[in-house]
Amino acid sequence: MKKLALSDEILLTIDKPARYIGNEVNMVVKDKEKVDIRFCMCFPDVYEVGMSHLGIQILYDMFNQREDTYCERVYSPWTDLDKIMREKNIPLFALESQDPIKDFDFLGITLQYEMCYTNILQILDLSGIPIYAKDRTDEDPIIIGGGPCSYNPEPIADFFDMFYIGEGETVYDQVLDAYKENKAAGGSRADYLKRVAQIEGIYVPAFYDVTYKEDGTIASMTPNNEFAKDKVKKQIVMNVSDTYYPRKPLVPYIKSIQDRVVLEIQRGCIRGCRFCQAGMLYRPTRQRDVDYLKDLAKDMIESTGHEEISLSSLSSSDYDKLQELVYYLIDEFKKNGVNISLPSLRIDAFALDVMSKVQDIKKSSLTFAPEAGSQRLRDVINKGLSEEVILKGAMDAFLAGWNKVKLYFMLGLPTETMEDIEGIATISDKIAREYYTIPKEERNGKAQITASTSFFVPKPFTPFQWSRMVTREEFGEKQRFLNGKMKEQLNYKSIRYNWHDAEVTILEGIFARGDRKIAKSIYDAYQKGCIYDAWSEYFNYKTWMEVFEENGVDIAFYTSRERSEDEIFPWDFIDIGVTKKFLRKEYEHAIEETVTPNCKMSCSGCGAAAFQGGICFEAHTDNGNINC
Ligand code: SF4
Repeated sequence: MKKLALSDEILLTIDKPARYIGNEVNMVVKDKEKVDIRFCMCFPDVYEVGMSHLGIQILYDMFNQREDTYCERVYSPWTDLDKIMREKNIPLFALESQDPIKDFDFLGITLQYEMCYTNILQILDLSGIPIYAKDRTDEDPIIIGGGPCSYNPEPIADFFDMFYIGEGETVYDQVLDAYKENKAAGGSRADYLKRVAQIEGIYVPAFYDVTYKEDGTIASMTPNNEFAKDKVKKQIVMNVSDTYYPRKPLVPYIKSIQDRVVLEIQRGCIRGCRFCQAGMLYRPTRQRDVDYLKDLAKDMIESTGHEEISLSSLSSSDYDKLQELVYYLIDEFKKNGVNISLPSLRIDAFALDVMSKVQDIKKSSLTFAPEAGSQRLRDVINKGLSEEVILKGAMDAFLAGWNKVKLYFMLGLPTETMEDIEGIATISDKIAREYYTIPKEERNGKAQITASTSFFVPKPFTPFQWSRMVTREEFGEKQRFLNGKMKEQLNYKSIRYNWHDAEVTILEGIFARGDRKIAKSIYDAYQKGCIYDAWSEYFNYKTWMEVFEENGVDIAFYTSRERSEDEIFPWDFIDIGVTKKFLRKEYEHAIEETVTPNCKMSCSGCGAAAFQGGICFEAHTDNGNINC
């Protein structure tokens, strides 16, 4: 049997030892002596969260299809093991071979949310890899970051050798080929970084100098290396029906967050909600061929034994062949007891029909995300959802037998007034009123409306990137005001109100639009014990505030400051296709409360047509061209 990195004694003392022993169903086993490149893929959160991530499964599959590469995995050790590893000096190891991470050629870290930044430092530290990129030598792995947070990598730029901006399937082969060639030629780490800096989509932070104005904003960001590009272009797959997809995804032995087959039906979103970063980053929308998806689903169910298929997309209702696909999946798999789940579905007659076929309606709840309580504010954020549609959707659902409704809103959206906030309570109440118009004998018990609010964080590459974020105190006031208004409603006993913590939101706000000056605070917070900041039981706001103060970081500068039109943002060097000019126009439309039509209705010329495919060409072209 394979030797494990942790002794039986340690495995028996920690929580969920299966997190660290590998050997899951469909794990790839290769002879490490016979490969040229060893790549360790990392999700900087606990195993159960990381194992649910589709992106890692795709890259794992893709890298391991290369004969010369062995891709393994590592997740953040939970705090119990973290302590033991430090005490006993056990180096962090990869699950497949159980070898130390330090022996690998690459450590690829996926950046899914800002609150995992200290976990990245934990991974480097436990691996014995210098935390700052500048301190690494030819003996250390190349540390590469990717994923949504790499669209503003600046707060963590000092910790990475390079970032990959875009969808992994596109230029990773070039990145690995270049590594092999460089190694064969006896090249150094520095030689390699010069090579990859020339590949589209690759950003090597050390090759850029940033200067600041007196007011703290950026004066310039200029390449200091002849191979570094002025602009780093996002890389995306245009043909999503002919690319890598894990037909045999890994299946853990312990319950993970997503214990199911994930079928990604399309990328991107046509809607253009102004608060949504993913909607801008992943433009243009690209749909997968329906037959390809049917075939994938079959293979994945067979190879995993999962009992659920989840359709993944930013807005599933916009997938053209959704009915065909869903009815096929129900027919094909329901007899074997396989369930279909459809998040991100707008509630209409089709959705209700599907849900009544696949869900126990007595137990399940329906989800609406109006995001804002008033029509005015929904127009500001371009949500494209009227009160009429929400009420009708709820009523149809009630008539079909549902009595539970979940509603999601945000507090602190730009231009928000107390009236808009009160609208959240009013619409929750209106939904309950709809329910009670149904004769008593036809009702399914009491209505249960759960309204949740999160606090809005302005994100890079959205029309609100210029906006101020409200302060912690303002968030508190807004939340208390709404709580009071909820209690004033006629049907308040049918309404439950949940809210998120404002302290975490403030941190998110700093990291989301932060620059390189933030790195030292992240380092110091880690040194003072901050890890697992995304987990409320470990999040320590006080420590963060201390380190910001010690480092002279002005929180208001990063969060509650309205930016001027011509400010240079830390992420301006990245080209996502969607132009800054378009985003600014959308910002102005938001202030004017003007709605922009979605990409299917008409093209607004956002710039993503530069990728020459997807919705930009499919939906509007009579002549194969689009006027953007
Ligand atoms: S170029 Fe037009 S169609 Fe394409 S994503 Fe932008 S707005 Fe939508």
